[in-house]
Amino acid sequence: MAKKTTLKPVKAVAKAVATMARVAKKGTAKVTAPAKKGTARVAASVKKPAPRAKKHVFFFGNGKADGDRTMRDTLGGKGSGLAEMTNAGLPVPPGFTISTDVCSVYYAEKGRIPASIEAEIAENLRKLEKAAGATLGSNENPLLVSVRSGAKFSMPGMMDTILNLGLNDQAVDGLKRRTQNGRFAFDSYRRFIQMFGNVVLEIPKDAFEHELDAVKKARGTAQDTDLDETALREVVDRYKKIVRTRASRDFPQDPHEQLRMSRDAVFRSWMNPRAQEYRRIYDIPDHIGTAVNVQMMVFGNTGDRSATGVGFTRNPATGAKEFYGEFLVNAQGEDVVAGIRTPQPISELEKVMPKAYRELREITTRLEKHYKDVQDFEFTIQDERLFMLQTRNGKRTGYAAVVIATDLVAEKLITPKDAILQIDPEALSQLLSPGFDPKEWRAIPVATKGLPASPGAASGHVVFSADEAVKWADQGKPVILVRRETVPDDIHGMFVSQGILTATGGMTSHAAVVGRQMGKPSIVGAGDLEINEAARQFSVNGQTVKEGDFVSFDGLTGEVKLARVASKPSEILQVVNRQLPEDQSDIYRRFNQILTWSDKFRRMGIRANADQPDQSEMAYGFGARGIGLCRTEHMFFGEGRIPIVQRMILADNEPDRRKALAELLPMQRGDFYGVFKAMHGEPVTIRTIDPPLHEFLPKREELMVEIAKLETRQDSSEELEKKLALLRRVEQLHEFNPMLGHRGVRLGITYPEITEMQTRAILEAACQLAKEGLKVTPEIMIPLVGHVKELRDQKAIVDRVAADVMKEQGVKVNYLVGTMIEVPRGAMTADQIAQEAQFFSFGTNDLTQLTFGFSRDDIGKFLRIYQDKKILDKDPFATFDTDGVGPLVRMAVDLGRRARPDIKLGVCGEHGGDPASIHFFEKVGLNYVSCSPYRVPVARLAAAQAALSVRVGD
Ligand code: PEP
Ligand code: MG
Repeated sequence: MAKKTTLKPVKAVAKAVATMARVAKKGTAKVTAPAKKGTARVAASVKKPAPRAKKHVFFFGNGKADGDRTMRDTLGGKGSGLAEMTNAGLPVPPGFTISTDVCSVYYAEKGRIPASIEAEIAENLRKLEKAAGATLGSNENPLLVSVRSGAKFSMPGMMDTILNLGLNDQAVDGLKRRTQNGRFAFDSYRRFIQMFGNVVLEIPKDAFEHELDAVKKARGTAQDTDLDETALREVVDRYKKIVRTRASRDFPQDPHEQLRMSRDAVFRSWMNPRAQEYRRIYDIPDHIGTAVNVQMMVFGNTGDRSATGVGFTRNPATGAKEFYGEFLVNAQGEDVVAGIRTPQPISELEKVMPKAYRELREITTRLEKHYKDVQDFEFTIQDERLFMLQTRNGKRTGYAAVVIATDLVAEKLITPKDAILQIDPEALSQLLSPGFDPKEWRAIPVATKGLPASPGAASGHVVFSADEAVKWADQGKPVILVRRETVPDDIHGMFVSQGILTATGGMTSHAAVVGRQMGKPSIVGAGDLEINEAARQFSVNGQTVKEGDFVSFDGLTGEVKLARVASKPSEILQVVNRQLPEDQSDIYRRFNQILTWSDKFRRMGIRANADQPDQSEMAYGFGARGIGLCRTEHMFFGEGRIPIVQRMILADNEPDRRKALAELLPMQRGDFYGVFKAMHGEPVTIRTIDPPLHEFLPKREELMVEIAKLETRQDSSEELEKKLALLRRVEQLHEFNPMLGHRGVRLGITYPEITEMQTRAILEAACQLAKEGLKVTPEIMIPLVGHVKELRDQKAIVDRVAADVMKEQGVKVNYLVGTMIEVPRGAMTADQIAQEAQFFSFGTNDLTQLTFGFSRDDIGKFLRIYQDKKILDKDPFATFDTDGVGPLVRMAVDLGRRARPDIKLGVCGEHGGDPASIHFFEKVGLNYVSCSPYRVPVARLAAAQAALSVRVGD
């Protein structure tokens, strides 16, 4: 009987085990609770530890497997691939898969596996011994196995693997006798002790490397392969000593104990920090767990007629149809990954082992056809005999995803519908962003990370103010605008920058929203940045960066680096901006093909959030058919307008205010005219002014400094008076809680002349276009409505002014009046509001803010901690919270439709461009989603996927 291990998991893992146990416990409780509508999805998704009678271990070998490709949830990707390949008669070494359920049990039982499951494992081990014709631990003919992780979703390199398990002081002699190769036997043994020592006993790799190097040095050799049997015996002895001193125990000689300990270590590796981080980034839930695959070893390290390698059936970076991969002769899998020796390109295999190469090509081509997707495979050649160790759908870049899907359709391997379902919508977003050379990028260390607000590669000189950004850009220099946070009047600086980097803010903060809308790479909430705007420098983790220094960042990952890295613009964008003819871009043709297919399958319309004619034109080019949100206040920041807007705000009587508004009127009319025209008659939703007025004025502190300076100079009393008046008004307008203050419809109610001017500008533009022969239907939208009477008040103004304008112009224009639903009270009384509103557009940014009570601009301060503590999985400002905010949307949809069956329903919060959120909007049956222009392609594809995978009313 094996001695029970006395090893305790290290602190981090122990903590993780406890967390997972909590997750599993919570899951058990939730499943037994009656499934309420809102919680049903969560409850169903948390796995209950499986009942003991269930099958937990699945055998594969001799051409037959207990599982198959449909069982990824239970067997993980690797396990289901091995089962499927076995069933297809491919050369797969026999083995068994311990299911993902057992991982949940392991955590729920605090690291203990129940006897019934142990018995099932033992039974499958006997079966494996029979299939292999070898016995674990035998000194005649020892069975050696690999123990590998394998979750439903591949997590390359995140979890642990152990090879050559089963070797001990006797079995190593058995292996030597059987293979007539003492060098090989002892090399395998030392590798096993090293891996087991590191993965299971948590002894740092260096400790082993140090001993190996010492033996190599003593023998004057450079390569591991130069060590002979005697040398390797010495390495084994040294390794065993390392284990004894570092782990305070002997290296376990009982192979069954080795197996149990390795299996548990693989389960524990599910919760190691890098696996947790990986899951967080790729949205893989914690509760699904990993399977463990125990498989007979085959050896790529028996000599020059053996090899091991990995490959793809197509190039995963470019999508090109070429056999792609690498291999090493006389090596084991970890040598390829560890980079100790440089692998050879797979094409070389044809020269050194032509038979195995041909077989590999034939098998992998079959696998690609079978799975109807690019395969990422692992193989080992033992004495010229090929074995397949893994196959799975290959990960690929966004570029490759589009190339591969369109090629597979052209090859008639898949249909356009399959292609749509195969592509991650974010792949399209990657195609729009400028890129870094990956090799160059990887070589530079990461200085810090922030929230990846808008994708793309940005590199430039650091500047700390919008004006400075413009100054540098005018000299033709690329700049990165670094701010604690951006404000609306930074817009000109944002526009000329390569990218925007802020220390505070969340995914719907100003910098993030505007960054996405402009298609500017942006990172927000990079909390490690200590910005000193006065000194024009920031420091990050001990390094200081001054104005003019170079910074580069990747808006897709949130990584910031302190160096210059060259980037190149996206080809697709060049076509959309008409800088490159369509027929000269193969990738544009494919991209467009995917989107054209998507349009055939989607139910919801796609609109864009855009406030400028050029943005609208680009949105149209990306396929938006309508504007879902035109934020009119953004127009106030146009060139030369701020002083007029400020005059409007400073006016202390209505006539003066009207005078300023009259100056703004032609400017807004011109913008509306341009936006309508760019949309070619598609619907355009224009929102009346929303943010609090003080946002258009300078900051109080800045004004005070300027006034103090003027007072000491004593030479400009007129200017001083002006600044003092401005300060008084700023102080008057100051609010403790501006997001809940004097904004949205409240502005239109207190200053009706603003609504009047904006309505007039909209209708005059529409009338002018009607006269020119373009029929447009403006949709005038009132923001932040919580009470029907607020909307009634504003609607009366809109209808009155619209009637006046149409009379003056002698033209009739169809227009709609509607509201945003972004205040919980508005959602709760949506039936009353629908009496007045012809359409609703869900403002899910404010609705999330007001439902959670999280400030959308400050969430960056605590979101990461919430995520680390697993209070929140995702940023609710990026991915819509279907459980908490969702019921409000559902309620408003129901109430609204009941009161007005033909009411138009859309969403214009940032969630309108997020694929997971789009699935929810499909389910509740919205008519359209609206998002920033650069997200339009993502939304087109995601809406098609949603229509194909969920039903309205689900
Ligand atoms: C919203 O609140 O979701 C919205 C679109 O409006 P804004 O982001 O301008 O507040
Ligand atoms: Mg809003």
